[in-house]
Amino acid sequence: MRWISRIAAAAACAILQACATAPVAAPGPSHIAVAEEPRAPVTILVSIDGFRPDYLERGVTPVLNGLAKDGVSAAMRPSFPSKTFPNHWAMVTGLRPDRSGIVANTMEDPAGKLPPFTMATDDPAWWNDAEPIWVAAEKAGIRTATMFWPGANVAWGGRKTDSHLTPIEGGTRPSDWQQFNQQVSGEQRVNTVLDWLRRPAAIRPRLVTLYFDTVDGNGHSYGPDAPETTRSVADVDRLIGMLTAELAALHQPPNLVIVADHGMAATSSARTLALDTIADPADYRVIETGPYASLAAVPGHEAALERRLLAPHPHLQCWRRRRSQRAFIMAPIRACRPICASPISAGRWTRPSRPKRVAAATMAMTRRRRRWRRCSSPAGRPSRGGGSCPVSTMSTSIRCCAT
Ligand SMILES: [Zn+2]
Repeated sequence: MRWISRIAAAAACAILQACATAPVAAPGPSHIAVAEEPRAPVTILVSIDGFRPDYLERGVTPVLNGLAKDGVSAAMRPSFPSKTFPNHWAMVTGLRPDRSGIVANTMEDPAGKLPPFTMATDDPAWWNDAEPIWVAAEKAGIRTATMFWPGANVAWGGRKTDSHLTPIEGGTRPSDWQQFNQQVSGEQRVNTVLDWLRRPAAIRPRLVTLYFDTVDGNGHSYGPDAPETTRSVADVDRLIGMLTAELAALHQPPNLVIVADHGMAATSSARTLALDTIADPADYRVIETGPYASLAAVPGHEAALERRLLAPHPHLQCWRRRRSQRAFIMAPIRACRPICASPISAGRWTRPSRPKRVAAATMAMTRRRRRWRRCSSPAGRPSRGGGSCPVSTMSTSIRCCAT
């Protein structure tokens, strides 16, 4: 007996799409009762954060390779900026970050009406520009459940209030959802999905998301080529094998859509751009750093900051806002105001201070975390020199990007 797992193409943002004929273990006695129940297919959207396409070639992903072999797989070009929140939100809304409103992992509202956006922000005002698929499904009467996904904890369409009793008014969430907690293990995540699917049909979800972050975490901490990263790739493959085997035991036909939000490219902590050597720290605040930097000009210092950033710099290039919007398909809203800066060579990293100005303990952590980083080309364009090309983000006044 074979199970057919159909894979739906995951729009433009899917890095890994695997559709397969998954081997099915013979149901054991404990599964006899549920096996007799006819089940409608469930669509399970699985994200493996930071899963680079060539991780499939390391010989540690028999499950994913099997799914890809019998289904469909393709490499993706992430939306710009190639960061976790913009691309996860793009995948579930069908809109690029310049239209979905989530254009970075960290943002500030240029109008100053909203508190700064972080990856913990659940204020619907930041998210309401684009409707996620689980809200559309719920509106259509399709029950949904999310085992983590950026934005899945947000009462979409709702409004934040000043009331402690009802801090969020209105809005739609998945019927079942989990507040993100990195301490929830991969096994627990898979088992939660399976528990949802063991429910009676009336309260069983038809659309489910499942999110794994360990591949991304180890890729950032140790580098894409490190054994720790390969081990996390193998572990997620095992978890997906666990998922498919249990689905088979449940006689639950699945549509598996397995995606990633971006890849991972190596760079070196020695190849960093100290922002305070490029501009006077008195002229700006740092909003986000990494493969790009997002800076806000201190009021009254805009011209000085612009003058410094628009000057020629090794490995760094700056644009005024209109040009950067054309170059990177940046959002007209929440976008940088006067200047954007982008790298002109590969493998650079930005940070606000010189290493020697950072406390020793912090530096040890910083070196470890920043030893390797990934990035991708702006607006999906091939990067110079054949490598990846991390570039700016949006947000406030000025963007600096380095490769
Ligand atoms: Zn990510």
